[in-house]
Amino acid sequence: MKNAIISYPRIGANRELKFAIEKYFKKQSTQEELLACAKDLRARHWREIKEAGIDFIPSNDFSFYDTVLDTAVLFNIVASRYRALNLEPLEQYFAQSRGYQGEKGDTTALAMKKWFNTNYHYLVPECDEAELIALSGDKIFKEYLEAKEQGIETKPVLVGIFTLFKLIAFKDESTQKLAQKKLLNAYLELFEKLNDLGVQWLELDEPYLVYDLSEKDLALFDEFYKELLSHKKGLKILLQSYFGDVRDIYAKLLEYNFDGLGLDFIEGKESLNLIKQYGFSKDKILFAGIVNGKNIYANDYAKSLKLIKELQKYAQNIVLNTSCSLLHVPYSTEFETKLEKNYLKLFAFAKQKLKELKDLKEILNSSEENPLFKANQELFTNIPNRFDEKVKARLNSLKKEDFVRKPEFKERIKIQEGVLNLPLLPTTTIGSFPQSADVRSNRLAFKQQKISAQNYTEFNQQKIKECIQIQEEIGLDVLVHGEFERNDMVEYFGENLQGFLFTQNGWVQSYGTRCVKPPVIWGDVSRTKPITLSWSKFAQSLSKKIVKGMLTGPVTILNWSFPREDISLKESTEQIALAIRDEVLDLEKEGIKIIQIDEAALREKLPLRKSDWHSEYLNWAIPAFNLVHSGVKASTQIHTHMCYSEFNDILKDIDALDADVISFEASRSNLELLDTLKAVNFKTQVGPGVYDIHSPRVPSEEEIKTTIEKILAKLPKEQIWINPDCGLKTRGYEEVVLALKNLVAATRKVRNSL
Ligand code: GLN
Ligand code: ZN
Repeated sequence: MKNAIISYPRIGANRELKFAIEKYFKKQSTQEELLACAKDLRARHWREIKEAGIDFIPSNDFSFYDTVLDTAVLFNIVASRYRALNLEPLEQYFAQSRGYQGEKGDTTALAMKKWFNTNYHYLVPECDEAELIALSGDKIFKEYLEAKEQGIETKPVLVGIFTLFKLIAFKDESTQKLAQKKLLNAYLELFEKLNDLGVQWLELDEPYLVYDLSEKDLALFDEFYKELLSHKKGLKILLQSYFGDVRDIYAKLLEYNFDGLGLDFIEGKESLNLIKQYGFSKDKILFAGIVNGKNIYANDYAKSLKLIKELQKYAQNIVLNTSCSLLHVPYSTEFETKLEKNYLKLFAFAKQKLKELKDLKEILNSSEENPLFKANQELFTNIPNRFDEKVKARLNSLKKEDFVRKPEFKERIKIQEGVLNLPLLPTTTIGSFPQSADVRSNRLAFKQQKISAQNYTEFNQQKIKECIQIQEEIGLDVLVHGEFERNDMVEYFGENLQGFLFTQNGWVQSYGTRCVKPPVIWGDVSRTKPITLSWSKFAQSLSKKIVKGMLTGPVTILNWSFPREDISLKESTEQIALAIRDEVLDLEKEGIKIIQIDEAALREKLPLRKSDWHSEYLNWAIPAFNLVHSGVKASTQIHTHMCYSEFNDILKDIDALDADVISFEASRSNLELLDTLKAVNFKTQVGPGVYDIHSPRVPSEEEIKTTIEKILAKLPKEQIWINPDCGLKTRGYEEVVLALKNLVAATRKVRNSL
């Protein structure tokens, strides 16, 4: 029995790569220094993986920004707008990653998209000159040789041809057609070269295979791999899938002469059934993904061994593997000095997962009498602070009615109109105001106990005062308190609820040099005291206008945390929903008339297969949101906010959230979405963002007016709110005030003309 990993985090134990790249961006270091740091990190990681007892060690999983971009560059898929800049290779690479503005020209970065169902973002390769596609890079060869020099034989890892082709944005159909041929030739050339170098195994990552595949997709895959596999010669090919099961193509995959087939047994809920149904081939190695590459909890060896034994009935040759790249978990628990041992022992970050793979291998090669097995099973006894009987009882007592808000929308919106007294096209913002340096340092000082709670509160109250005053001067209709007490919309609630844990160094790459540190859901979640109430009450006391209460919804809190594995996501989300529900009812009781419950990340865990969307996710995610607000009076208005413009396909479900108003990012894909809103008879009032807050640019009054008119042409005026497309936290005051003034002026003009 051997073991493998798919890829290792590249940012380094202490985010060394992030800091080295940022230093280089700021021109505080040279390219040589950056390259040296990268080389050093690679060497360290290979050594670490080898010393941990892993047999298949990946190379080419390193990246200065993103491995999809690396793969595009390897095959010379570089849009002409970057070529035109005439930059040297690394600079051209970064121009694609971050855009370029300088003496050689001015062009935006490649589009960035979520990598399947993760919080990692890849760069979307752009192809406008297919004739240029050819094997032109050498990173994959260099890194293989670099490891070899250190006496380490690696398995180069590369995005497979099918997935790459599916992810590229082509200029037009003819470009795409030509690219298909050219790309195939380029991969053939790559095989040739790897053979020449004496590479033993090549891993081709084909996560696209876990989507619903059409006949056309299957034909494309066949065209690519029939040809490639007939030219692989001595090179062994591992076809690696992850993030789900490959049910649409599994039976066919067995017929190709891949040497290894990598399947995900964590997220691939059909993987085992597929093997039971279709068997496995004698001439292939099954790379069995049994160690979760996405979550941070320790592997339960009893469960893994049971699965492996089941698999051994069908596959003679098994390699123990991670379920996906370890890129999606933090580096190592050894830097966590503050978390209690009782908690930490149940955590496994990337480095600890190496040990799990080694342990499992050893146990399988000996017996379950092995002390390693016993030690692992002991981890799962006496787990502290996990279950709360009260939470359980409360969940159990929930009835159907608790998930339904009454009276229905049509009726309550009239009642709200009577109470709220808002003009047509009410103006508002999404919640946060600029988090200036003083706001952040005040929070930090409080956290580090350098200032008293009173000082901390007084400072924030002063900020809230200023924020309310600014909004009144601007003339907005519905105000916000500004969210100065929050570092992050999820972390803030996690910190104030029972059941969450926080790491010091649990960084995970989100994109490029940006990393996030997700909270960990450890135990049953509940609220022990009001969280936002005092801030909201204070803010409301300062104005005659309505100030919105501002909360984060349960689905978003779940999706931006590491979830529990011992209870279902549904149950965990319902617990969070009940906690937020308590906050909603407290706000209402204290006179807050509009409460916004943000679901910025509602889409995040949407299953990759459309056929699973409802049964696996939406059927409980939407009711969880309903549970949060179903207890309020008819007159209390519930708002929600979502960030992605990509929700055309789940509009019905968003309407079923049954909020009264939803604001969303629409400034970039405006019209298309409005058409769909109309088509599905969307009932909820909508605030399509009228300008993009992700850029410091101030939109003119005229520009906003045009946007509002476009919206009015598509939807009834009674249904529309006017707001920016997201929170203003990353912006500066100066631009915010100017933009909002223009927003209000534009709205007034349009309003008067109605
Ligand atoms: N209310 C939050 C804010 O304004 C929403 C943030 C978000 O959508 N990501 O910051
Ligand atoms: Zn947003």
